[in-house]
Amino acid sequence: MIETINLKKHFQVGRNQTLHAVDGISLSIAENEILGLVGESGSGKSTFGKTLIGLHERTAGDAFFDGLPLPQKFTAKDHLRYSADIQMIFQDPYASLNPRMTVLDIIGEGLALKGIPRADIQEEVGFWLRRVGLHPDHMSRFPHEFSGGQRQRIGIARAMIIKPKFVVCDEPISALDVSVQAQVVNLLEDLKDSLGLTLLFIAHDLSMVRYISDRMAVMYLGTLVESGPSDAVFFEPKHPYTRLLIQSNPEADPILERSRPSAELTGEITSPINVGPGCRFADRCPEVMPQCKAVTPQPRLIVSDHQVACHLYDQT
Ligand code: SF4
Repeated sequence: MIETINLKKHFQVGRNQTLHAVDGISLSIAENEILGLVGESGSGKSTFGKTLIGLHERTAGDAFFDGLPLPQKFTAKDHLRYSADIQMIFQDPYASLNPRMTVLDIIGEGLALKGIPRADIQEEVGFWLRRVGLHPDHMSRFPHEFSGGQRQRIGIARAMIIKPKFVVCDEPISALDVSVQAQVVNLLEDLKDSLGLTLLFIAHDLSMVRYISDRMAVMYLGTLVESGPSDAVFFEPKHPYTRLLIQSNPEADPILERSRPSAELTGEITSPINVGPGCRFADRCPEVMPQCKAVTPQPRLIVSDHQVACHLYDQT
């Protein structure tokens, strides 16, 4: 369904200064699959998702949807054309809904753009409000009348009413209370199964990503350091960064939390501006070797479908 080859997004941030936000990501997402994309803040996860679907112009590389190339720079016409198949659920349920629009107009906007009659839109919005656990009576209200979790459900209904094939979920639970996060994740999983959706699920919470995703990909400073089946990456991480990221991820169960080995990601993240050769994790890696600072590690398959970019695996 989705493939990127060496996708890059760089930003000019000053004279002769280039921020390498996304720096050569090659990955694929199969139809009806959820790929979880994890990494610390600033790793480039959201920029990757936005560049993939044309919210940022691609600096270099290729992206394909359903086997066909996506434009490097989306025009207004492209956005309209692809919005029928590709949608996004945003991180902030407060900022992503227009406060001056009613819920009916927010959720029904995509259908209105297609010229669907108002009465049909109302019916469809009512159906989707029920489907995401809200009430059809809510369609005349405004976003400020809802909680964060309810607003995120409105955002989900807005994306799903179009019946897209592919949805980028950009940290859809990070702004929500813990008690509401599981409800939203279960709703997304249910919609994925019933609608046959393909999802890119971007998040910080590794346990939640493992729970919802078929495959997991780990980004560090604009690059992909590890990817594979979610259980393999979570329970048998190969890359030193993935191992530390998982060990520093708090367990929801307090007994498990007390018993797990403590580990912390220490050290400063290398600047993503004008990055040179070598492993970007070298300054923080407990297993750093002399070649790590000089030679950029390339992704290699170490077990079927489990890929790692690290010199520890150069001989495998
Ligand atoms: Fe650590 Fe070297 Fe592997 Fe980078 S390439 S993660 S510095 S061992």
